[in-house]
Amino acid sequence: MKLSSLGEFGVIERIQRRIQTNPQVVRGIGDDCAQTRLPAGHELVTSMDLLLDGVHFRRDWASMTTIGRKSVAVNVSDIAAMGGQPHFLYLGLGLPPEISVEQVDAFIDGFLHEAETYGATLVGGDTCRSQQGLTVAVTVEGSVPAGEALGRDGAQPGDDLYVSGSLGDSALALSLLQQNQSVPEKLAQRHFTPQARPALAVALQQTGLVRSMIDLSDGLYADLSHLLAASAVGARFDLERVPLSEAFCRAGGTLEQALTGGEDYELLFSAKPGQQDRIAAVAAAQGVAVTAIGQLNAAAGSLEATDAQGRLWQPNTSGFNHFRG
Ligand code: ADP
Ligand code: MG
Repeated sequence: MKLSSLGEFGVIERIQRRIQTNPQVVRGIGDDCAQTRLPAGHELVTSMDLLLDGVHFRRDWASMTTIGRKSVAVNVSDIAAMGGQPHFLYLGLGLPPEISVEQVDAFIDGFLHEAETYGATLVGGDTCRSQQGLTVAVTVEGSVPAGEALGRDGAQPGDDLYVSGSLGDSALALSLLQQNQSVPEKLAQRHFTPQARPALAVALQQTGLVRSMIDLSDGLYADLSHLLAASAVGARFDLERVPLSEAFCRAGGTLEQALTGGEDYELLFSAKPGQQDRIAAVAAAQGVAVTAIGQLNAAAGSLEATDAQGRLWQPNTSGFNHFRG
């Protein structure tokens, strides 16, 4: 069915019909503003991400459903990175004229499915025609207990440095796609439908042991550099301890991909020293592995990644950056 037969308000109504009620939502889609409630004693954390056709996804590689899912997951990942719980989503959609109603439905399927996974509700947005390509802008609002948000700036010398899950799967999948090679299913999943970690992040925040956190969107090396700069500390980590999946190793992934590839959507965080057993237990209860990879020190801005022989490793590239090559 052609989009023109529905019109802007038809599209919005089609989305609105599918939203489930949420006691935190006083007013959702349909008025000039959404009206929402945060849990008592909590502060609001908000983030937004743009996903552009040809920049963040290719319509010939990704289905509309997976684009919908990923647009939620990458936003929720930022809420997780603050130790936050996601609640409300806003969706800005720029729809190109050639897109069908079925394709919009598939996008919304993915979007709402993923939102439900995290307990978040779509409460508003904007819908326009796009002259060129699909444009998706998502804003997410979440909550953190007042005064307890986990910034990038809270790390202290002596903290242990941890990373959740495994790194590089998404980057390896993308590199295989770009070379027209087949992509093992597990790697494809990590690239097209990454999972954010809000439940783990909230559980870690509640321990009171975690001092700083960031989510890995640009690669561990680049995102760790951001955390070090914000906290004015240095870090040393062991390359051998960087967690890699079996699928990654089997498909020939490189250390370079694992550390600079990006789009991992894992959590990188620092915690009070000597708490590895407790941190591991909290992560295990959430069904996620967490690995201690190194330690922070007082040498502000210094980042040393060493192999088993103590040799220093330097990346060839420093992670994804939109305005560089
Ligand atoms: P306004 O003209 O006041 O901006 P709109 O006609 O754009 O209102 O939107 C009407 C309602 O539909 C609003 O509640 C808005 O938040 C919601 N809405 C519009 N587009 C979307 C979308 N893509 N997803 C979710 N809600 C949407
Ligand atoms: Mg509007």
